[in-house]
Amino acid sequence: MIQKASPRNIKNAASILKKGGVVGMPTETVYGLAANAFDRRAVAKVFKLKGRPGSDPLIVHISDHAQLEDVADLSQLTAFEYQELLLLIKNFWPGPLTLVLPKLKQVPGVVTSGLKTVAVRMPKHNVARSLIRAAGVPLAAPSANRFQSMSPTTARAVEKELGQNLLILDGGPCRVGVESTVLHLGREVVILRPGGVSRENIEKVLNRKIPVIKAKQ
Ligand code: AMP
Ligand code: MG
Repeated sequence: MIQKASPRNIKNAASILKKGGVVGMPTETVYGLAANAFDRRAVAKVFKLKGRPGSDPLIVHISDHAQLEDVADLSQLTAFEYQELLLLIKNFWPGPLTLVLPKLKQVPGVVTSGLKTVAVRMPKHNVARSLIRAAGVPLAAPSANRFQSMSPTTARAVEKELGQNLLILDGGPCRVGVESTVLHLGREVVILRPGGVSRENIEKVLNRKIPVIKAKQ
């Protein structure tokens, strides 16, 4: 069921998330299928609804900078790595850059497919950030399509993919329309997936060359 992303409907969607449900949310990249990132059963519903294999980790979406420390263990970064993190955040958040960082143990393994790292992004879309704020927790959200289908950029496309039982907040068509760039931080800084933020712009900000690894799809 598609609903306009009014304050009232955002509040309603947040209450579904708080109760362990899933909702469709607009972001500037593509529409996401969101669940409370700390609720392993809710996250399992995302995998089931999408038909996504458990070996493909989800991106955790946050609404403000402080929330990064609820999911990522920044104490594992060296001073230099931390400085690079701050530069990237300052230049690209909110926006289509996902950062892979050491994970805190309160993030359930189902979100990260058992990895010790967590992928985190602060979306630019106001509706996405309002929804995260209203839910009061970070939201794990892959694209809102069945596994191996096209990522949807409108609420209508989400409904076609995942059916009418799902509440989908309509925030209009996505502006970026391509997935976020996924960048691994730490001892090795590498682009795991090209996307909405270009390699050139990341290299400009970090003032060095950054390799691209072809991520398995
Ligand atoms: P999406 O399909 O848009 O939800 O993107 C999720 C993608 O982010 C995954 O398919 C991985 O490529 C990447 N990803 C998420 N979490 C991690 C992680 N902890 N380590 C490496 N890559 C990750
Ligand atoms: Mg996808």
